[in-house]
Amino acid sequence: MTPTLVWFRRDLRLSDHPALAAAVARGGPVIPVFLHDEGVESLGAAPRFRMGLSLDSLARDLARAGSALILRRGAALPALRALIDQTGAGAVHWTRDHDPAARPRDMALKAALTADGIVARSFPGQMLFDPRAVTTGQGGFYRVYTPFWRAVAGRDPGPTLPAPGRIPPPASWPASDRLESWAMDAPMRRGAAIVAARQQVGESAARARLDRFVAGPVAQYRERRDFPAEAATSGLSENLAWGEISARQVWHAGQRARELGAAGAEHFLKELVWREFAWHLAHHTPHITTANWRPAWDDFPWSCTITPAVTAWMRGRTGVPLVDAGMRQMYVTGTMHNRVRMIAASYLTKHLMTHWKIGLDWFACCLTDWDPAANAMGWQWVAGSGPDAAPYFRIFNPVAQAQTFDAGGAYVRAWIAEGQARPPSSALEYFEAIPRSWAMTPDAAYPSRPVVALADGRARALAAWAAQAPTKVPQGNS
Ligand code: FAD
Repeated sequence: MTPTLVWFRRDLRLSDHPALAAAVARGGPVIPVFLHDEGVESLGAAPRFRMGLSLDSLARDLARAGSALILRRGAALPALRALIDQTGAGAVHWTRDHDPAARPRDMALKAALTADGIVARSFPGQMLFDPRAVTTGQGGFYRVYTPFWRAVAGRDPGPTLPAPGRIPPPASWPASDRLESWAMDAPMRRGAAIVAARQQVGESAARARLDRFVAGPVAQYRERRDFPAEAATSGLSENLAWGEISARQVWHAGQRARELGAAGAEHFLKELVWREFAWHLAHHTPHITTANWRPAWDDFPWSCTITPAVTAWMRGRTGVPLVDAGMRQMYVTGTMHNRVRMIAASYLTKHLMTHWKIGLDWFACCLTDWDPAANAMGWQWVAGSGPDAAPYFRIFNPVAQAQTFDAGGAYVRAWIAEGQARPPSSALEYFEAIPRSWAMTPDAAYPSRPVVALADGRARALAAWAAQAPTKVPQGNS
């Protein structure tokens, strides 16, 4: 049997990996490959860096299974063709990626390899369910979350697959780049070491994190998940984003916790299904990642300029403590609590009247859990232009939100050093991570007033909305 190339992308695990399992089942040697192609080139600094950590972990897991990870740089089709020539491979397997930016590449590639006489097969693994199989009564796709949840809640995504015990190696390995030579951390500059310390990288770490979560915090998840100072959520977005764990593995663990009576488990599954919803939407309406999901918003007078106020938002210096705390948490940890993501996004798109795409791009640079579908859905949900979105006139008040969800101020103190006699190390780390050119120091004064006052920003946003309310797009209930 000829060798099979298994092309890894955002599915950096060995267990519950249908493309890898099928390659082993095909018989013959299996050659795991990762390509530094156009998709990797386009990643923001933090995602690229986080992906590098994950690749290192995958390579070690493969070595333990008697295999190796071959690294090549270049556009996908010529790089795969070169490997096929050098190894005599007769098949290429990969996990289907529903990212609108990846799909045209993959479709063209499948056609070209098939024309070459190579068995080119793509497999599920990114989501719980095939987006073509979750349809409304009329055969369309769901545009509203609640009926989507009802449609999938009782479905079985199938059993998870074990990792292959041993992955058959080729008689000789093709040449490989060294991961260090790719310098995946270079764009992070001095932030890399700070952010690296906060990551839980790789398949084993992801499994351990899931196990810890379902053994404890999941019970209180529903009540505590909105309080950003608490470790009440799973933190799994970082691992799901790189495929270090599959959504199906998380789903089954959540179901088991529910069966064992963990009160918050159903709510946890519902959140996991928000991720699923985002990916199904990206599949059916790929423009969600780049343009207003509802074109009726195209004429809305959002600013597309990086004003000093927007720069202050990016740097956690708006003078609105909860917003600034969130932006700094993201810079130090690579993630931000979900509630604070919504509040920070609302301040940018509503109080600062700035286009959601500016925020989406900044998050795509800074998040180690960057996920093109969840990020786009999140931004368009807050902005009002997305499917099943919050109405534009519902504007988060960061002060009221802080009173409810950070009443004692623990979250803000954890991330904002200015004004504290003895700031915690988390707040100080921010100043170690940011570029020196930002010229920020912990002993400087915190802004005495917001870059845009809350009442003024709210009034301006509502006036713009009243003057140019985008026509309501009928949604039905599905
Ligand atoms: P948990 O609360 O433990 O939830 C479990 C899993 O469910 C998460 O890991 C995630 O995969 C999924 N999930 C939970 N909430 C959401 C949600 N609202 N939307 C989609 N999936 C969800 N999530 C990303 O993974 N990557 C992003 O780039 C991203 N960008 C966002 C941008 C904005 C403006 C907003 C409002 C939300 C964004 N989210 C994104 C969604 C959400 O904030 C994160 O998934 C969540 O904070 C991850 O923390 P956790 O793993 O502890 O989640």
